[in-house]
Amino acid sequence: MIHNFNDDISTPDKFVVTLELVPGRESSGRTIDTITGIAREAQADGRITAVSITDNPGGNPALSPDALGHEILNDGMDVIVHFTCRDTNRVGMESRALQLAHMGMKNILALTGDYSGKGFGGAGLPVFDFDSVILTSMLSSLNKRLIRAGHASIFVTGCAVSPFKYTEAEAWIQYKKLERKIEAGASFAITQLGYDIDKYEELLLYNKDKKIEVPVLASLYVLDKRSARPMHAGRIPGVHVTEKLYNKVMQEWEGAGEGMQHAIERTARLGVVLKGIGYKGIHLGGIHDSFATVGKILDRMAAIEHNWLDYLDEFREDEPNRFYLYKQAETAKSVIPGKETIKVKLTDNFHYLFLRTAHELFFDKRAALAPMYKKISNSLDKSNTSWLLKVFLEDPFKKVMLSCKSCGDCGIQHVGFLCPESGCPKHTRNGACGGSNNGFCEVNTDKLCVWVRAYRRMKKHGETDKLTREFVPPRLWELKDTSSWINFHLERDHQKPVKPPARTL
Ligand code: SF4
Repeated sequence: MIHNFNDDISTPDKFVVTLELVPGRESSGRTIDTITGIAREAQADGRITAVSITDNPGGNPALSPDALGHEILNDGMDVIVHFTCRDTNRVGMESRALQLAHMGMKNILALTGDYSGKGFGGAGLPVFDFDSVILTSMLSSLNKRLIRAGHASIFVTGCAVSPFKYTEAEAWIQYKKLERKIEAGASFAITQLGYDIDKYEELLLYNKDKKIEVPVLASLYVLDKRSARPMHAGRIPGVHVTEKLYNKVMQEWEGAGEGMQHAIERTARLGVVLKGIGYKGIHLGGIHDSFATVGKILDRMAAIEHNWLDYLDEFREDEPNRFYLYKQAETAKSVIPGKETIKVKLTDNFHYLFLRTAHELFFDKRAALAPMYKKISNSLDKSNTSWLLKVFLEDPFKKVMLSCKSCGDCGIQHVGFLCPESGCPKHTRNGACGGSNNGFCEVNTDKLCVWVRAYRRMKKHGETDKLTREFVPPRLWELKDTSSWINFHLERDHQKPVKPPARTL
């Protein structure tokens, strides 16, 4: 049976199953044969809607999902291509999107992506010219352009969302970012991987609250001894395996031949619980050798799904000091918001207040003195003396206050007056990536995520509603090493009044 991913996720009451396949660093051979074999068996089985193929997972080189996906698509199985922002700039990304459209590969999972890993000769350059929201917007814009040129609708773009964030700041920002992704054109979402049913429920409650109606697939992973170790150690960004679960998995694998049975049973039980609480489907990962494991999981799910409530409590993690946006009241179905005490350092607070005041005085186009700043900017620009302002005033000030990278297109006002260029290794402009862990950055693990800092300082002043509240376009590289102050007043920077996804490519 041939499925169409878009049709299946749009069909009410259809429970969708997709598989995530991970190519390695080879162009043909055993691993590739195994992947295409799993896809062929999945197609023959008939219960799988599509396979998704990862894009250089972990930031390390692997066979392109476009090439492998095309082969699988030609064999009759629908494909979701993972598309990250890490390895090419916007020109390369648009070119890749055109290539995918040309090949008829229309299901895209738009991701910011893990940080760069190692390729030939060492670590790769982390490009991150776009973040996932901007990439989604680019694909929407490209869709419109292609439709205008006479093509049928091309891309069905989806996004990732991580409910498994255990500080208030991270949870709040993830959900706000989900809203931005949907506004930018995402028409389905796939969760990050976790085993905490209260967090899975939290996402559904949030969507209900905000009237978000895109179908959401929950990630499930066949957790074995080999995968549990790095997940538990926090080496897979954004994935949580608790100490308790890790110890249980290790114990299960002590008995001869029993480990995999336990892994299948756990996956099937979580699968039926997720179906029971209202997920549109599941996205299965951890399938490395054959389709047989998937078949067993789906058979088991069919056998136990009517008793899903019996398994619900197995996935309540009950760990201390975790933030939940909602908490199930003990006896009723009603929810009460979770609370977290947020502390902000004096210096951080001063930094915020100082820059916010400066911004209001000098960079608010509605301010009384704004026409005068525009005149000054114009005159400096015309006389080719804007560099004087930049070298003697702007650079020293912004280097000290923000470790400014001189991009000429300042985005600090979108990140609580912190710099998305120097403060975030992935240069995210529309909310945090999914890799933060307990408030700390995925890449610089000893530093708080820049968005967590932004949220906390803004929370102190009751201003979090200003954070991630609207689409922030990409920075304009043509402004690099020019004065961002002058660019702002002369309306050359990204703050020109352009709305997504109409932004011209
Ligand atoms: S600062 Fe935050 S958004 Fe940026 S890479 Fe680190 S965790 Fe991700």
